[in-house]
Amino acid sequence: MVLALGLPQVIVIGVVVPLYATEGQEECPSNPLRAWLVVQGLFCVCMVLLACAPLCGDTTLRQPVAAASGWVQWGALAWLCIGIWWTIFQRGSCASAAPVTHALTLAVLAYNLMFYALPCLGFLCFIPLIIFCLPVALRLVASVEPAPESVSEDVLSSLEVTRYAEGLCPKEDAACVICLDEYAPGQDIRFLNCPARHHYHRDCIDAWLRTNNTCPVCREPAAAQPPAP
Ligand SMILES: [Zn+2]
Ligand SMILES: [Zn+2]
Repeated sequence: MVLALGLPQVIVIGVVVPLYATEGQEECPSNPLRAWLVVQGLFCVCMVLLACAPLCGDTTLRQPVAAASGWVQWGALAWLCIGIWWTIFQRGSCASAAPVTHALTLAVLAYNLMFYALPCLGFLCFIPLIIFCLPVALRLVASVEPAPESVSEDVLSSLEVTRYAEGLCPKEDAACVICLDEYAPGQDIRFLNCPARHHYHRDCIDAWLRTNNTCPVCREPAAAQPPAP
């Protein structure tokens, strides 16, 4: 990782900067971009050397090398920020006075930024994946989630049904709490097997029991063994 970051910069800076320096390419007058490139190259040389240090096999060097790598990488990051400040935020006369140095600085900055931004880009690529896959995943979870328990038609038909007539239940209790209508003579009333023997219009409670297996009022099992009289 560090080698992939440092080695190409060492090579490019090492070739381009001396080439143009010897041809009289002026240092940028507003910001010392050539000096920045040289220091950046030195940071990269240090990074490459420290990355190669474990190859010599000396285990006593491991700790100091790790500490030095940390310092160099933090230093390189700070130097990168200075480079960004000089080239992007403080645009001077570099592009016209020292075009090669300016272009090389921009290229080195872009390479570093791309390198540091790669993990973020990877994460950004995951976002559409998550957006597209989440509804599918949720649908899958919903499909394996068991449906609320209902009462089978056999059990339903075994529950007591009585035709309503005056006096079947106390007057204040002669209403269906599902539709809130009072019972009228001749209507079919279903009694549940919950301990309180709650009752409702047959059509009202049958629709409920096709998606639930408990009494809507007391939440006790609707089709339990009938309570002893
Ligand atoms: Zn009803
Ligand atoms: Zn009940």
